[in-house]
Amino acid sequence: MQNSDAIWDAIDGKRVRFTELSDAVWGTPEICYTEVRSAEAHRAALEAEGFRVTSGLAGIPTAVMGEAGSGGPLIAILGEYDALPGLSQEAGVTERREVVAGGHGHGCGHNMLGAASLLAATALKDHLAKNGLAGRVRYYGCPAEEGGAAKTFLVRAGLFDGVDAAVSWHPAGFTEVNRTPSLANTRLDFRFTGRAAHAAAAPHLGRSALDAVELMNVGVNYMREHMTSDARVHYAIIDAGGVAPNVVQAKAAVRYSIRALELADMLVLVERVKNIARGAALMTETAVAFEFVSAVSNLLANPPLEEALHAEALRLGPVPFDDADRAFAARIRESFAEGDIANAYRRVGKPLRTDEPLCSEILSFEHGGIPMLGSTDVGDVSWAVPTVQLNGASYAIGTPDHSWQLVAQGKAPAAHKALVYAAKVMAATALRIATDEDLRRRARADHAARLAASPYVSPIPDGVAPPIGRMG
Ligand SMILES: [Zn+2]
Repeated sequence: MQNSDAIWDAIDGKRVRFTELSDAVWGTPEICYTEVRSAEAHRAALEAEGFRVTSGLAGIPTAVMGEAGSGGPLIAILGEYDALPGLSQEAGVTERREVVAGGHGHGCGHNMLGAASLLAATALKDHLAKNGLAGRVRYYGCPAEEGGAAKTFLVRAGLFDGVDAAVSWHPAGFTEVNRTPSLANTRLDFRFTGRAAHAAAAPHLGRSALDAVELMNVGVNYMREHMTSDARVHYAIIDAGGVAPNVVQAKAAVRYSIRALELADMLVLVERVKNIARGAALMTETAVAFEFVSAVSNLLANPPLEEALHAEALRLGPVPFDDADRAFAARIRESFAEGDIANAYRRVGKPLRTDEPLCSEILSFEHGGIPMLGSTDVGDVSWAVPTVQLNGASYAIGTPDHSWQLVAQGKAPAAHKALVYAAKVMAATALRIATDEDLRRRARADHAARLAASPYVSPIPDGVAPPIGRMG
């Protein structure tokens, strides 16, 4: 049995229309800055709920914001709705079955993420109005979390100025406060230009851009030994210069993702990789141009807000999954690769259990797991304002991230319960922040101390626009 509360009862009263919103977004999977229908669904829901709506934030057509209330503290609730390429998948089945061959799919659960956040914002808005409380709530509908760093652009455009705190969540295998560090991450394209020539008849006249790409990659692979162990560098050759081996490649390009645990370290690492590219160009007598793609900062923790969110989750209790949810989760787990389930337990520092298809608890605050080091554009919001996130149990424990199995569970009854649950934890936490001045003061002080130790520099260079239409 879950505890009750006025704001939670209000959320239960609206659960149907928001689970429908989640399912509608699940059914129109759109990737990286192309989320036209998903953003429109969110915009329409904001309008229907009486928010003051602004579309096209920071020059991004698929970013939308709704604001409500007046005076008092300003609380941001962050939502997302972008999907992933290549993950088209039927719902509710336990085998790989595409809906559209080669199509997109919600392999990170952002359909649930956005709907739950909008539900939380709606409940908070209604609660403040009904009780005559001062305060404003803003729902940020953020596109392109997967590789497009939309929130970093929103932060750079000043859209979080004046916000007191930001609250969000992410679907997960276990319910816990998200206290996992994330990596600062820059994506850069390196485009080399050389000179074409007949590779047999006049090789001495050619200057190979593909050689430059290969030498750059070799150089970076030697650099790996001399970076901190939490840094990550990976690359994909996005232009090999053509398919003809008998033509010296005049053009070639490689995309790099350069990550480190701290923003400042990442910025240094980016310069080192650029120097290697310059060296490769010098060796091959080619020219290199750097083309910025996107960047995000690491997440800043905020213990006062994390403790508040944890307390609200404990007060609510775990996600109320039922036997039918557990039975479906158990069946889909049969398709997992060996190690997926053990890895999930390792991440949260719990001994492996094979008889627990869905999480039935709230993990302890200090669980000592081995974090999974990914990156998120929530990172930049956390440098702008004190930020806190819930991980809400939404699918079978061990479900791999960005997998067809996650898409298949995306509109199951368990996913609906999870999104209502997440909305309740976020709304209650946001209400506490809005009404507890001491909590806000402590959150602000913690945030200020972290920024004093390491000031924020936007990882996106001046003048760079969001990579709308450029993400392949
Ligand atoms: Zn995600």
